[in-house]
Amino acid sequence: MLSVVIPAYNEEEILPRTVEVLGGILTAEKIPYELIFVDDGSKDRTWEEILEAHEKNENIHGVHFSRNFGKEPAIAAGLAEAVGACVAVMDCDLQHPPATLVEMYRKWEEGYEVVEGVKRTRGRESGAHRAAAGLFYKIMSRAVKIDMSRASDFKLLDRRAVNSILDMPERNTFFRAMSSWIGYKQTQVEFDVQEREAGSSKWSTWKLIKYAVGNIVGYSTAPMQLVTGAGIAVFFLAVIMGIQTLVRYFTGHAVEGFTTVILLILLIGSIIMISLGIIGYYIARIYEETKGRPKYIVSKRV
Ligand code: UDP
Ligand code: MG
Repeated sequence: MLSVVIPAYNEEEILPRTVEVLGGILTAEKIPYELIFVDDGSKDRTWEEILEAHEKNENIHGVHFSRNFGKEPAIAAGLAEAVGACVAVMDCDLQHPPATLVEMYRKWEEGYEVVEGVKRTRGRESGAHRAAAGLFYKIMSRAVKIDMSRASDFKLLDRRAVNSILDMPERNTFFRAMSSWIGYKQTQVEFDVQEREAGSSKWSTWKLIKYAVGNIVGYSTAPMQLVTGAGIAVFFLAVIMGIQTLVRYFTGHAVEGFTTVILLILLIGSIIMISLGIIGYYIARIYEETKGRPKYIVSKRV
């Protein structure tokens, strides 16, 4: 059986249509399925829509979070809930074409264990968004040592791969990177990101920035190495300035140079503060992880 995990946050407008389209295409292709909607603490009628869909079709299951935990926890909950021999993850807004899902399933039947959907085109988005996403994926690709520039959350995993992901103890998950990191027999399927059929994007700019920084810190220690780099640079500066100062002292011109002092204090002060901030960020993450709180809280289930 194919389990399809669908995170949904305030998706009342599109959910019935998603159910209809997915159910229709999977039935037509004779693929036994279950749809697992993870309602990420929606404030609209998303949960009621899920209940209604469940009434009509017993292949539809739902999990309701006690509040909005985010897309990553929603994916994690869906993976934990799924019982199929293979599990796909896709968005609720039909931006991930259902026809590609069938293509992925066929690849799985051929024996692939991780089938990744990669974006052939990114759909409509602003220039700034595209540039920021480009930078983010460059850093992430280096961190996980896999090209992620076209990665998406649209994937199909074999049961073994799902179990490997579920076995990972960290609470701060990044599905896109984890599913590459686990290895197994992987392949890719290209798709064009579709227009959102209804509703609007559930990601604000601020939420995206937080998500990006969080993932970089979660997967890369490069920012910390940046601190070391800055330290070394300042040290060399210090040696040069130190020699200059001593020469001036011994030649009897020591009084001048107040501007230099001010500039140095400003420069070094800011580098120290930025560095402390970066280190603080990592410590905060360690603290978060050691608290060992659950990734999400399920309040209802159907
Ligand atoms: N989503 C979620 N929790 C959130 C934000 C988004 O579960 O806090 C879901 C959303 O319902 C959708 C998917 O994640 O199914 C992708 O979100 P969206 O379409 O808004 O993102 P975009 O396509 O604009 O990147
Ligand atoms: Mg979308």
